[in-house]
Amino acid sequence: MKVLKFGGTSMANAGCIKRVKEIVLSDPDAGYVVVSAPGKREAGDAKVTDLLYAAFRAVKAGQAAADAFLPVRTRFDDIVGGLGLKMDLSAEYDGIIERLDRGTTADYIASRGEYLSAKVMAAALGWTFCDTKELIRFDDAGRFMAEETDVLMKKALCGRTRLVLPGFYGADEAGEIRTFSRGGSDVSGAIVARAVLADMYENWTDVDGFLMCDPRIVEDPELIGMITYKELRELSYMGANVLHPESIFPVRKNDIPINIRNTFNPAAPGTLIVPTKKFFKGEFTRRDSTVTGIAGKKDFFAIFIEKSMMNNELGFARRVLSAIENKGLSIEHMPTGVDTLSIVIDGTGVEPETVEDILAEIVKTCRPDVIDIVRDIALIAVVGHGMLRKKGTAAKVCSCLYRADVNIRMIDQGSSELNIIIGVDNADYEKAIACLYREFI
Ligand code: ASP
Repeated sequence: MKVLKFGGTSMANAGCIKRVKEIVLSDPDAGYVVVSAPGKREAGDAKVTDLLYAAFRAVKAGQAAADAFLPVRTRFDDIVGGLGLKMDLSAEYDGIIERLDRGTTADYIASRGEYLSAKVMAAALGWTFCDTKELIRFDDAGRFMAEETDVLMKKALCGRTRLVLPGFYGADEAGEIRTFSRGGSDVSGAIVARAVLADMYENWTDVDGFLMCDPRIVEDPELIGMITYKELRELSYMGANVLHPESIFPVRKNDIPINIRNTFNPAAPGTLIVPTKKFFKGEFTRRDSTVTGIAGKKDFFAIFIEKSMMNNELGFARRVLSAIENKGLSIEHMPTGVDTLSIVIDGTGVEPETVEDILAEIVKTCRPDVIDIVRDIALIAVVGHGMLRKKGTAAKVCSCLYRADVNIRMIDQGSSELNIIIGVDNADYEKAIACLYREFI
């Protein structure tokens, strides 16, 4: 039994939804469908979720709720008309307009894209709509509650198939709608797959699968046929964004593979994401290479601290980390030497004053000999199980970057020997990725 999740571009208009319908109805193993809200129909178009957030803001700023909601209503009316469905969504629209008018949460309004999308999909397939409001549980602070959700979901779905569920949201214990972060329908699909112990979680999107690196940097990079959860987690955390990075956690519990497929090229086998290396055989091929993929992100900053005999000073690292934690920031990497400590932090949205405060606090509590900050650092992850116990991978990384005239600011090998993280100047980011790709792939 499979769970099939369709993303925003697969649900963008009636034509796309007809393709989705064909994919689902031609697969005898398809048991559950999870959908996103309709996405962009072409470049420059708006996603329904963005239209909903905009409507929420417009009403707050004084616009009439019915007017603010009109662009969403038009999108769904076009879809229903284009599919030739005899369904009337006006009572649903009125309910949403009323909630907009009365004052509600942004999460509630944003969730209506997936809600209406699932209603339409259920009607198109002739399947049953099943609301995730009752099945996906968040706590009062909006944190997803995995185990409570699994119990609720298992109970509700047990013995039932041919269900369509909206992605992206659930509700807290008070019954208020809560959403995942953007792109969260991927997580909903994974939660359903875990609950029904699916044989496969198919995640249908608009690309053939995971590429070995960013196609905006390297022309036509190779596709990854098979990748493990851990490799994928490293790559998607570092910016490879085909799948929401949190989608792995629910399916990991039961070793359920995820298959990334392309709604617009259903013949392509896509990328298979498997629990461990043991799965590297059979229908999908695994390229025999040291490196599975390369990904990265710009705009980190690093704090370099030096103090003689630092290693003997009890609580030194703790005091440094507290200064960062007190400002609500988390750290990405922490390469150390005998008398040196470097901390790499994601600088996106961090105010310069916050950084100054952190430095002042470290000076006060740790009295370092030297403290310095380097901004505009890009981190690049070279990821692959193939590098496990293989000699010379780090040497290859360094020599190829040296030949490309890229200065390495930092290098850190994960303890799992699954990845090597390299810090370079933002300005060298693209050059570094391109030369690493040529070296390894
Ligand atoms: N519709 C939501 C978004 O645009 C969630 C999703 O599509 O996964 O982020």
